[in-house]
Amino acid sequence: MVQTSNSQLAILGGQSVRSTLLPYGRQWIDEADIETVIQTLKSPFLTQGPKIKEFEDSVAQYVGAKYAVSFSNGTAALHGACFAAGLGVGDEVITTPMTFAASANCVRYCGGDVVFADIEPDTYNIDKYKIKSLLTPKTKAIIPVDFTGQPADMDEIMELARERKLVVIEDAAHSLGAEYKGRKVGSIADMTMFSFHPVKHVTTGEGGIITTNSPDLYEKLLLFRSHGITRDKDLLELKNEGDWYYEMHELGFNYRMTDIQAALGSSQLGKLDDFVKRRMEIAKHYTEAFTKNSTIITPFQKPDRESSWHLYIIQFKLNELTAGRKEVFDALRKENIGVNVHYLPVHYHPYYKELGYEKGIAPIAEALYEGIISLPLFPAMLDSDIQDVVNAVEKVVGYYRKS
Ligand SMILES: *Cc1c(COP(=O)(O)O)cnc(C)c1O
Repeated sequence: MVQTSNSQLAILGGQSVRSTLLPYGRQWIDEADIETVIQTLKSPFLTQGPKIKEFEDSVAQYVGAKYAVSFSNGTAALHGACFAAGLGVGDEVITTPMTFAASANCVRYCGGDVVFADIEPDTYNIDKYKIKSLLTPKTKAIIPVDFTGQPADMDEIMELARERKLVVIEDAAHSLGAEYKGRKVGSIADMTMFSFHPVKHVTTGEGGIITTNSPDLYEKLLLFRSHGITRDKDLLELKNEGDWYYEMHELGFNYRMTDIQAALGSSQLGKLDDFVKRRMEIAKHYTEAFTKNSTIITPFQKPDRESSWHLYIIQFKLNELTAGRKEVFDALRKENIGVNVHYLPVHYHPYYKELGYEKGIAPIAEALYEGIISLPLFPAMLDSDIQDVVNAVEKVVGYYRKS
C-alpha cells in the first residue's frame, strides 16, 4: 500500500511505514556458501591451507590484476599496503576526509602524516586539483577512495603520482565490481584494497585483500601479513640450515585470513555480478523516485565509470526544509528505515582533532556532512522494501518541506 505523504509521522505518534526495521546493509549467505564452509571445517586446514590461494587467485582474476594478498580485514590490508609502500615517520599521504577512518588510520600506523584533500561537490570523491595543491616534497603516497562505489579520477591521480614517483593505494572497499573507463577496479592503482565486511559487496565475515601488478609489492605484502617471516631460500641469510629454518626480516603482523573465510569468499565471489546488478537496480529505482523531489539531490555519476553502489546517499537541500538532518534521520528511523550517515569527516574525530586538524580544512566535505543520509541498499532487498524506503522518505520530507 502506498503511504500518503500527509499521514502522521511515526515520530509524532503516527503509524510507521514498516513494522520491522530495514537495515541499511546486510550480507546474503545462501546454502552453497554454508556447504562450502562446512567442507572446509572438515578439511585438514582451517588456516594457511589451499583455500587462501584459491580465493586470492579468483579475486585477482576477477579484477584483472596479477597478484592478490588476502588479510584478516580491510584495515589490516591497508596497513599492509602502507608498509609495502615504504611509508614511515615524516612521510605525508594525501587522502579524502569523506571516508571511513581506516583510510587515514593506516598512514598513522606507519608513523606517517595524513593530509586531507577536499572532495568534488558532485561525486563526493577526492578532488584531483586539491591533491595537486597539497603535494610537497614529503608527499609519498595518495589514497583515493572510490566513495559509495564510484571510482575516483584514477587516470589523473595516477598521472600525478607517476610525475612525482608517489605510490597510489586505492581504497576500493566500496567499489568491488565497479568499472573505470571499461576496466574493473583493481588493477589501476599500484595497490587496491577491497574489504569483505558483511555490509560490503561480498563477505568473508571479516576480511580484506590487496591486488597489485607489482611482484615487488606482492612479496612485501606477503611478508608483512605473516610476522615478517620468510622461508624463501633465496632470501634467507643462512642458506644451509634445515627445512625447519625460517627468518624474520621485518616487523610484520599476523594479519592472515583463515581458510574458512577464504572458502566463504570464493563461494560469495561467484555471486558478485548478480549482487552488483541488483544494487544497480535499486539505485536506479531510488534515483527515478527522488529526482522529482526538489528538496533532494540524488547521486551524480560520471559517464565514463560504473559504480558498484555500495552506498546510496541522498543530500537534502537544507534551506528548503524546516528541520535539519538530525530530525529527518530520527523521523526515518522511527518509520523503521535503517538510514545511516557516511561519514563523519575523518578530521572531526577527536583523535585527529588532538593531532591538530581543524574544522575548515575541507569545507565541501564539511558542508556535505550536514545534509546527507544513506538509504538502505543491499542485494537481498525486496521490491517492497525499496518502495517502503521511497514512501518513508517522501512522507518525512513532505512533512518538513517549507510550505
Ligand atoms: C569498510 C571500509 C574499510 C575497512 O574495511 P574493514 O574490512 O572493515 O577493516 C576501509 N575503508 C573504507 C572506505 C571502508 O568502507
